[in-house]
Order: sequence, then C-alpha cells, then structure tokens
Amino acid sequence: MTALLEVKDLKVAYGKIEAVKGISFEVNQGEIVCLVGTNGAGKTTTLRTLSGLLKPAGGTITFDGKPLAQVPAHKIVSLGLAHSPEGRHIFPRLTIAENLQLGAFLRTDKEGIEKDVERAYEMFPILGERRKQAAGTLSGGEQQMLAMGRALMSRPKLLMLDEPSMGLSPLMMQKIMATIAELKATGTTILLVEQNAQAALSLADQAHVMEIGKIVLSGTGQELLHNEDVRKAYLGED
Ligand code: ATP
Repeated sequence: MTALLEVKDLKVAYGKIEAVKGISFEVNQGEIVCLVGTNGAGKTTTLRTLSGLLKPAGGTITFDGKPLAQVPAHKIVSLGLAHSPEGRHIFPRLTIAENLQLGAFLRTDKEGIEKDVERAYEMFPILGERRKQAAGTLSGGEQQMLAMGRALMSRPKLLMLDEPSMGLSPLMMQKIMATIAELKATGTTILLVEQNAQAALSLADQAHVMEIGKIVLSGTGQELLHNEDVRKAYLGED
C-alpha cells in the first residue's frame, strides 16, 4: 500500500533556528496518526509546512502521489489536505454559517456544499442552533467545533488537526475526541497533534513522539500508551 502522505527527512528552519531536524513518517488512508511531544518540539511547525505555510529547508513531502514541497498553500487545499490550526482562527465577525461556507471556497457544487453544512450541524448541533450568530460569540470549545467543521467543508482526503482539545473543559474534550473517532469511522484520514497524549494515543493507529525537532519514538497508539517512558513524560506518571 502506498501511503497517502509520506514525509521523508523533513527539515524546517526559522532563520538559523532549526525547528524540525529531519523527520520521517507516513499516514495511510483511513488512519489516525498522532504527533505528541512537549511544547516547542516542532509539531505545529510540521503541520504548517505540510499545508504550505512554511517552506521546508530539506526533505520531501509526497501527498497522494504528488510532491508538495513547492506547492502554494491554496493549491494544497485543492489537492485534498485541510488544516484546522492551533488557536482556531475562525472569523469572529462572520456568522457560523458563513464560516462554514468559507471552508468550501474551492468548491462549486452548491448542493453538495449545502449537504456538508447540514452534516456539520448534525455533528455539532450547537452550530446549527446558532448558525446566524457571529462566530465570535461561541465559547472556546464551540469555536473549535466550528474550526473542525470548516476544515471538513473542503472534503479533505487528509484532515490535520492541531491541538483540537486545547483549553477545553473535560466534557468538551470528550466530545471533540468522540467526533474525531466518528470521522475516522466514516473514512476520514487524520493527522492529529495533541498535548493530551492519553486521549490522542487511545485513538491513534500510529503515533510519533517528537522532542526538539526530532521523532524519538514511534509505534502504534496502544504501544506508546503502554510505553513506560511515554507514561512518565506525557501521562504524568512517576
Ligand atoms: P507547542 O505545542 O508549544 O505549539 P510545537 O511542538 O507545536 O509546540 P512549534 O510551535 O512547532 O512546536 O515550535 C518549534 C520550535 O520553533 C520552537 O523552539 C519555537 O520556539 C520555534 N518557533 C516556532 N515558530 C517560530 C517563529 N515564527 N520564529 C522563530 N522560531 C519559531
């Protein structure tokens, strides 16, 4: 099986600071692959590079059989790679419905778009109830739902989620994690970056631990969940 996403020896630098120091991993169709690691490990930098927002300093990215490294960000979305960024970045003055529509900006199939908006409302009923309100009035967790809903509006082959549970109450977090599991069940392939290692590893088919720009450990979600070093470093055990 060829991987949907193949990252080989990827390096990314901010000026002289090398934030990603040659990482390699794959994401296969239908999988959830998770990147965990402490603050500053290079997880967000990796996702931003995959979406074309940063240029790699070295290595290759192959998505759906095509090299991505020199493709501009807007083209990458049209190839089927969507990114729900850290900190959400929704448009606070636009309504919830308008925010969702923006996620479909590359599509012209009006009926399909309407269907997918309805699907987002089914997935997150609060968005449907408040569809005509400014998105800035939503709580943090609800904005996270909107960001996920919006990223799904491009019907991505690969959905990248950066810290979807950040700042959420335990209940909201559970809801977001359940939604990620549902998305996988309906065939969406997901690359997930999470601080909440317990929840993320429980969902992940494959997972990688990043430390200062490198992948230091890889395995299935279950393997890492039961790995002693991981438990000590990320799951708060002595
Ligand atoms: P977090 O979970 O805290 O977001 P992360 O694993 O996503 O961490 P990155 O945000 O990718 O880590 O940061 C990796 C490294 O790159 C850090 O040392 C960070 O300080 C540095 N860095 C990130 N953005 C910039 C920037 N715009 N300019 C310079 N250095 C940066």
